[in-house]
Amino acid sequence: MRAVYAIANQKGGVGKTTTAVNLAACVAEAGYEALLLDIDPQANATISLGLGKGDTDTVYDVLIGSASLTEVIRPTGIERLSIVPAGPDLAGANVELPRMSGSETLLRDALSAVRERYAFILIDCPPSLGPLTVNALVAADRVIVPVQAEYFALEGLAGLLDTLSLVQRELNPWLTVAGMLLTMHDGRTRLAQDVEREVREHFPELVFDTVIPRNVRIGEAPSFGKPVIHHDPFCAGADAYFDLAKEVAARG
Ligand code: ADP
Ligand code: MG
Repeated sequence: MRAVYAIANQKGGVGKTTTAVNLAACVAEAGYEALLLDIDPQANATISLGLGKGDTDTVYDVLIGSASLTEVIRPTGIERLSIVPAGPDLAGANVELPRMSGSETLLRDALSAVRERYAFILIDCPPSLGPLTVNALVAADRVIVPVQAEYFALEGLAGLLDTLSLVQRELNPWLTVAGMLLTMHDGRTRLAQDVEREVREHFPELVFDTVIPRNVRIGEAPSFGKPVIHHDPFCAGADAYFDLAKEVAARG
């Protein structure tokens, strides 16, 4: 496995953070060292793992050069899972990064010092295609694109794919799409079935077989500061994220 995955989609609320947290937790549960990088100023991944926001150095300190990545890596309550927290200060990076030349590779450069320590590094991106997401795409080997199984699901995906091509051409020729992931899928509704069919027709080969169901346990787990596999290991949501981890590992 040993790869860096960016979880990206410029739309908010599609399941990026949920996927980043739960996939990282499943990998750790399977016995691998995992690192989750939260680069969204909203710090939802940080909070979902029970860490407070704003009480430690964050990835922002790494980007502006006031701390090394090793200094900001924190353990989580979960064995083998570490996190680089985000905080509201990170919003400033959206203004500061474009003013620094070569800033697109800051995250990649920072990660190079710790890459070998982890089997699996996941980057939870903010809901935009701004400089933070570009940093993630430059640092990553592969991208996972969560797609909410709702109307307008395909909207914006063309823009995301354009950005991926641009990054591949200019900054990171090794970047590939690991897959698109249907999330919050409610199998009882005709709409979810239609959206799934449409996304699979549009992007054959690219969509993960695993579909993440809409599941109450997944939604409530962050309020307990836990991934769903620790909140309720036997619910449908936990099963789905375990399946996804297997599929991601199998795709290499
Ligand atoms: P993003 O990071 O793309 O903005 P989130 O992962 O934060 O999206 O998800 C948006 C909201 O939907 C959150 O409140 C989250 O708990 C909830 N959610 C995500 N996936 C599911 C799911 N499969 N079932 C139920 N609720 C979910
Ligand atoms: Mg998020």
